[in-house]
Order: sequence, then structure tokens, then C-alpha cells
Amino acid sequence: MSDMRVCSRCKVSKPIKEYYLNKARKDGLTLECGDCIRIRAKKWIDDNLERYKERYKIYYQKNKERYKKYYRDNRDNRRVKGGSYEWWIWWINISVFYKR
Ligand SMILES: [Zn+2]
Repeated sequence: MSDMRVCSRCKVSKPIKEYYLNKARKDGLTLECGDCIRIRAKKWIDDNLERYKERYKIYYQKNKERYKKYYRDNRDNRRVKGGSYEWWIWWINISVFYKR
């Protein structure tokens, strides 16, 4: 049982807790490490701020109930086990960084 995985983007082997959860995938994790996803998303958002706002709205509407439930269920241990958010939770959360 390996708890390391090679990021598809930076090709660095990192512990799986560095990856986000993605239930759409068989192994349940994103292909890219958290750092790469954050960098890529940050850049994408900088380049596409208006589109991001639109998408954010759609994502939030779609996942509002899951999002609320997730927070209720994980209020106290959000970052505990290495802090793997589901990717869409994180996608919503990044908006926090951009609310200035
Ligand atoms: Zn990476």
C-alpha cells in the first residue's frame, strides 16, 4: 500500500495527503498535487476573473447542500488528516482568497 504518488504535472512524488479528493476518479484522488492545482487555479482565476465568478456561482448553487453538510460534519477536523478537501470544496473556498 503506497501512500506516495507522483503528480502528473510537476512529476514530484508526494504523500497522498497532499492531493485533493476527487470521487469521480477510481483512486479517489486528483492527478495533480495540491500545490499544482492551487497554482493552476490561481493563474486561471487571475486570467479569467469574470468567468471564475460565473463558474463559482454555478458550482456553489450546485453543491450548496453538500457544502453545508460537509462543513457541519467536519467543523472541527477540517484540516486534521492532512487536510484533503474534496476538490470542489476547495474550488469554492479559493474565492475567499480573492475577496479583497
Ligand atoms: Zn504537482
